[in-house]
Amino acid sequence: MLERASSCLALAAILFLSHFCPPAFADQGAAPIKLHRETAHHNLEGRLEVYEDKTGEESFDSVRSKIFHLTRKAVPSFGLTRSVYWIKLVLENDTPGLRTVTLLIVNHHLDFVDIFVTSNRGAHIEKRRGGARVPWEERVSQGSRPVLTLDFAPDEQKTLFIRVQSLTPLWVPLVLSSEEAYVADDLRRYLFLGFFYGVMGFLIVCNLFAWTILKQRSYVYYILTLVGVVIWQLGYDGLTPRMTVFSRPEKLLHLFVSMSAFTFLFNTIFVSSFLAARKKYPISYRVLDIFTILAGALLVLYLINYYVGNFLAHVFGISLAWMFVIVIGLTWYRGETTARYLFLAHISFPILATILVGQLQGFLPYNVFWIQAMKIGYLLQGMFLSLALADQYATMQRGFRRMLEEQVAERSTELTAANEVLQHEVIERKRVEGLIAKAKREWEQTFDTVPDLIAIIDRNYRIMRLNKAMADKMGVHPRDAIGANCHKVCHGTDHPIDNCPLRMSLADGKEHSAEVSEPRLGGAFLVSVTPLRNNGGEQPEMFVHVARDITDRKIFEEKLRTLAITDSLTEVWNRRYFLRLAQRELDRSKRYGGQLALIMIDLDHFKVINDTYGHDVGDEALKKVAELARISMRQVDIFARYGGEEFVAMLPETGMEQAVRVAERLRQKVAETPLTADNRPVRITLSIGVAVAEPKATDLVTLLKNADQAMYKAKQNGRDRVEVFEPVASILVDGGSGAGV
Ligand code: GH3
Ligand code: MG
Ligand code: MG
Repeated sequence: MLERASSCLALAAILFLSHFCPPAFADQGAAPIKLHRETAHHNLEGRLEVYEDKTGEESFDSVRSKIFHLTRKAVPSFGLTRSVYWIKLVLENDTPGLRTVTLLIVNHHLDFVDIFVTSNRGAHIEKRRGGARVPWEERVSQGSRPVLTLDFAPDEQKTLFIRVQSLTPLWVPLVLSSEEAYVADDLRRYLFLGFFYGVMGFLIVCNLFAWTILKQRSYVYYILTLVGVVIWQLGYDGLTPRMTVFSRPEKLLHLFVSMSAFTFLFNTIFVSSFLAARKKYPISYRVLDIFTILAGALLVLYLINYYVGNFLAHVFGISLAWMFVIVIGLTWYRGETTARYLFLAHISFPILATILVGQLQGFLPYNVFWIQAMKIGYLLQGMFLSLALADQYATMQRGFRRMLEEQVAERSTELTAANEVLQHEVIERKRVEGLIAKAKREWEQTFDTVPDLIAIIDRNYRIMRLNKAMADKMGVHPRDAIGANCHKVCHGTDHPIDNCPLRMSLADGKEHSAEVSEPRLGGAFLVSVTPLRNNGGEQPEMFVHVARDITDRKIFEEKLRTLAITDSLTEVWNRRYFLRLAQRELDRSKRYGGQLALIMIDLDHFKVINDTYGHDVGDEALKKVAELARISMRQVDIFARYGGEEFVAMLPETGMEQAVRVAERLRQKVAETPLTADNRPVRITLSIGVAVAEPKATDLVTLLKNADQAMYKAKQNGRDRVEVFEPVASILVDGGSGAGV
């Protein structure tokens, strides 16, 4: 686009300068051009004469007689004009031989070129046509640029009248060369064109690849700019007709020339996109935006009105070229280093355009090379722009890498911090694990140290865990017990025992306890079972079974119970317990109607024994009596100490007679078994009263009272004897010493 812009700028500059600096004409007529054999390119400076036909309607016959003005410029330039210009030049073969020269009009955009050739050898007027709007078959050459071959006889002089008319700027660069030089020029030209289009094509393909890889929109705009330049240059180089499929050449011309506006458009968009102007430089962006809109409008206008399009394109091209220089230069100045190659690419155009304009206006020496100079500008621009894109990519990459490095550094810092936190957490975790392990050890030690038998049991009665006490008591190794059925381990059965608290806990999910006697384990146990629920579940998952060995307590309780119902001195039932047993027996005999006898026993003159031999001997006497009584009684008889030196015995299923026999036998036995105190025998005698229960009528109090009454009677009757209770009269029973009272 720079190329395009450069061309436009050049043309516009030419146009402007043409407007402000009208062609300089010399006063006298031009001298003929001598066609020396050794001259390859003839210098036309000061040899061209010009006539302006303002109406555009004058004929050759009319014009040839008009006065032409000599122009000092090598390249006649008339700007954008509606006038028709005639250029006259005289050629003379001053050599003795034949001579052929070629006249080339380098401007391919000229619409109509009519060449009239007159000769001093005859009146025949040779007429040729050329120009972009002239039908293809009428042209003097197959290209769009008019090429005229002129053959000269010795000393022949020919005068050329070249009529030019165009809606494009009317500048007419002429190259008059020998035939050989023309051929050589043409070859060089095609070589150069081949090189130019080759490089442009290469740049397009490379950037197309770059775009497919990088997917940056700048590349698309750049490629479109390059395509515009190539198409526009094809028109400029006169190569378009060879490719045309259009029947009317001017349509193709319009299209190709309007590609300048196309390149303006995409060049501007590209610069805007490259500089990322929208974000960074809003003012530059606005300026570029306005130029983009104008370029678009110009493109449309170009296709609508060719003449106006040409005029505006030149003005616009110049403005655009300088705007690029300013905007890109400022951006670079602001520190955007990626703009440096872009700046280099866009600075060449105004410079080259200035040189070209200078040449066209005759300020600088003209060389046909400069006609192609803009192409070199395009190539430089194309290469600088590719470089700019590559540089921008490299800069982006650097920025990206820097950003990546910063991110990595930042992330590393975060990771280091996170690592430290993690290390602390690990240390803390290890500390907590140590505490947990210690607590577990302590718990296990405690678990194994407690004397209670502890086991954790699941819902299927399987032992999950048990402590040492439990394993020891069960006589198993903990390893063997885990997973085993708890009934099997504790009781040797496959099923729960009757009052198994675990079974009850399983049934209602509550805590239960029970005293369980297990002879296999040699004692009694208080077993409590507590359900364990995980995560607040309804169903207990496991049960804690705690069994405490209460064998000793049971024994102790038994002892206490025995103490409570026995007399501590004589070890026979005490009075209170006797009364309970006696009442029960009395009730039973009443219910079943059996006989029942009661014997009341009192030691005779016991006070005397105590006083004589001491209390210990008295106690011995009591113990002896109790022992003898127990020996002489049956298992079913209830014998008890009733008071201080009084005993009582209840004899179930015993009638009076039998009871008296029992009492008498006891009396005799006691009387015959003396104690020894102070090496002297101490004789003990008993007074015994016997009473029987009246069926259904007698209560215990009465029965006791009756027996006591009988015993009292025995005392009264002389002691050491047995008396029976008789409601009316007592029956005397034989006393031990035979002495009844
Ligand atoms: P009697 O022939 O009339 O029954 O004469 P007694 O001396 O046995 O009469 P009494 O009932 O007045 O005396 C009972 C005595 O028994 C009084 C008391 O000191 C004595 N005694 C009571 N309990 C005990 C005891 O546990 N040990 C001893 N050594 N003496 C006791
Ligand atoms: Mg007494
Ligand atoms: Mg007594």
